[in-house]
Amino acid sequence: MSIATALRDFELQTRPIHPDTRRALDKRWADLPEHAKTPEQLLGKCAVGCEGTHGVFPKCNLTCSPCYHSADANKVRIDGDHTVTEVTKQMGLLRQIRGPRAHAQLIGGEVSLLPAKAHRETLLAMRAVGREPMSMTHGDFDYEYLLDVVLDETGKPAFKKVSFAAHFDSLMRGRRGAVRPKSEAELTPFREEFAEMFATLKKEHKVDSYLAHNMTVTPTNLDEVEQVTRDVLEMNYDMMSFQPAAFIGDDRRWKENFEEVTIDAVWERIEAGAGQKLPHKAVQFGDPRCNRHTVGVLVDGRFASVLDADEPKDIAARDRFLKHYGGMIFGDIPTWALTIKVMRAVLSHPQDIPPMVGLVNRILKRGGGLRAVIRAARRGKVSFKTFVVHNFMDAEQVKPAWQLMQQGVVADDPKIKETQERLGSCMYAMAHPETGEIVPACVQHSVLDPIENIGLRKLLPLEPKGERTTGITNGRADDLVAEGASRW
Ligand code: SF4
Repeated sequence: MSIATALRDFELQTRPIHPDTRRALDKRWADLPEHAKTPEQLLGKCAVGCEGTHGVFPKCNLTCSPCYHSADANKVRIDGDHTVTEVTKQMGLLRQIRGPRAHAQLIGGEVSLLPAKAHRETLLAMRAVGREPMSMTHGDFDYEYLLDVVLDETGKPAFKKVSFAAHFDSLMRGRRGAVRPKSEAELTPFREEFAEMFATLKKEHKVDSYLAHNMTVTPTNLDEVEQVTRDVLEMNYDMMSFQPAAFIGDDRRWKENFEEVTIDAVWERIEAGAGQKLPHKAVQFGDPRCNRHTVGVLVDGRFASVLDADEPKDIAARDRFLKHYGGMIFGDIPTWALTIKVMRAVLSHPQDIPPMVGLVNRILKRGGGLRAVIRAARRGKVSFKTFVVHNFMDAEQVKPAWQLMQQGVVADDPKIKETQERLGSCMYAMAHPETGEIVPACVQHSVLDPIENIGLRKLLPLEPKGERTTGITNGRADDLVAEGASRW
């Protein structure tokens, strides 16, 4: 490598905002519908949004009501090589269009049914193109499986850090030890046990983790959100994410009026569980009818939000940060490069230092003051927490809305028009390398999954019934699905 090339590489590696990120963000902003271009919007300013995989391992060995997988999902064989190959292609397209860094979910079925080696190789393939992968699971797997994913063939950690999102709620059927839970409380030990596996992983192998707790909410368990929030806040989860149920996927699993559960209704219960208001209006990912979230520091049970829309100085600090540093990448970078990058960023805007110090002071104050934070930190009682509500849409609206969008037609029907607005500002995308398209996850689940699974059934026909994958027989899942079909 010539000196000139080495210098160019160094400059690019330490440049506060990578030019590909800048391009992707500008395009994201330009493509947003006008109603989403608000001061609090994060898409196109500091993020392109989340990404997810699809059409690779649709099978699952639990049965939930609702379930977003299409009715054919369990008729497709899990194939590790297929998953690695297809996810690599999907991530390649996402890198090309959405820039060098994004959070991406390894999702589309139950991830722990993947052979551990294929799971590991898929995560590595995602990381190789700058994706921060999160494995989405029902959490019903053993520590040995986790070790087999995280450690390579020589027993060394293949990752410094892993991210898992575990789905726990009483609408799920078939979990070992809680086949038909009657309440959310019955699942508390399972939530704890899952988080504990990662504490053990850290102790034994020095591998860090980021954990999310996911819960689907229907009228049946809405009032239990409060207690779940209280319980899970005590555990080692970094994010608590709630999804009001939608009519998508397998219609054999629709047995309630999901429309009764709104974002506001869920957020109220989360606040009751947290024991305080959770300010969320200072930032927005996509459309407020789709998403609500807040990030803060939990100091000995007290949540100190990073930003509060009622504090004008917070809003001023947010705007400075987004204008000057939106799109900076902090993850998966050597420490020396990150240090120089941050120094370059700060030196190019030294006037930002006082407002940022002011913001840190206000966060400390919300957490009870510096002394309280230090005291809590000594006892290991300080951690970042994120609360999320993600509100998927019903297939009945998504199908016609998407069809019209592809023809460039704005719907007359107000409900379909609203659906189009939300799809246009979607923050959760999936890639189709075969067409070069990137589609909202609602479209993937409502329109494309069923078609994709017909093809997958031919490509990956089922193995004989009863063959074991991760210690849970496929026969059990098929029996539960059949049972679910007859019960619902
Ligand atoms: S369009 Fe669907 S997938 Fe996209 S952000 Fe809205 S609810 Fe989520």
